[in-house]
Amino acid sequence: MYDYDVLVVGSANVDLVIGVERRPAAGETVLGSDLAVHLGGKGANQAVAAARLGARTALLARVGDDANGRLLLESQRSAGVDTTSVLVGGAPTGVALITVDPSGDNSIVVSPGANGRLTPEDVRAAGPLVRASRVVSAQLEIPLETVVEVVRQLPSGTRFVLNPSPPRALPAEVLAACDPLIVNEHEARVILGGEAIGDDPAAWARELLASGPESVVVTLGSQGALVASAEGEVVRVASVQVEAVDTTGAGDSFTAALAWKLGAGASLAEAAAYAARVGAVAVTRRGAQESFPTAAEVEAL
Ligand code: ATP
Repeated sequence: MYDYDVLVVGSANVDLVIGVERRPAAGETVLGSDLAVHLGGKGANQAVAAARLGARTALLARVGDDANGRLLLESQRSAGVDTTSVLVGGAPTGVALITVDPSGDNSIVVSPGANGRLTPEDVRAAGPLVRASRVVSAQLEIPLETVVEVVRQLPSGTRFVLNPSPPRALPAEVLAACDPLIVNEHEARVILGGEAIGDDPAAWARELLASGPESVVVTLGSQGALVASAEGEVVRVASVQVEAVDTTGAGDSFTAALAWKLGAGASLAEAAAYAARVGAVAVTRRGAQESFPTAAEVEAL
């Protein structure tokens, strides 16, 4: 009865990365390494992660009518994502300009471009797609009012998963729809309103839960995750011990896997345990989308 297991509503970006010996001062030019082009944006990442696991996945996003937009669309399609609802035009595709120095520190300039033009009206027009999806997953690299409209369009029975990244204060209407709200430490601190909230992730999970969501997941990198729902205690989900080489995209693959498993009927703790395995595989490989595993690779872990 649902056409899609997971609908991802979010951003699609192209990351342009150049290694530099040192960053240029104002007015200065420096030479850098060859350009590396990576496809990203939390929405595009989550869609690829879900599709690679076998979920019937659709993406609602906006890209520019340009070469970067075509690159993103092509990569989504080749991962098996339904892109019929990706909107094209209105602004250039979102781009991140990234320089990396020899110590590995990044300097990043983000141009949200078309991501910033995904509007509440676009979401209303995509109402049939939302209604055809078992789970809807969103992040905050698109306008907040667009996420608010997603929540308003949700039919009863469709589950909403939010990773509030980059974090900001959320309206009660959005918080109340989350099942779960998925945060890392930084996101938890911002959403709870600042630094003075102690160092106990279980306490963050309880405080976040008290702010309105149906359930909460706090991801803790190599320490795994915590899940909290109204029915019970805060439960720890163990991480899988692996040799991490690049944690980029771990959170996106975790969120996508969790959304898919929840839609398939798993409990929150079961879905988080599966998602932790997916995140663990992703950190053993370089890159974001390139690092996301198939279901068979997760089984083999
Ligand atoms: P990012 O922003 O880097 O994509 P994040 O901060 O949103 O990630 P993390 O908590 O780093 O999210 O990672 C998500 C999940 O992936 C963790 O809860 C954990 O299950 C798994 N994971 C991440 N890092 C590791 C690691 N080093 N070893 C094993 N599992 C990991």
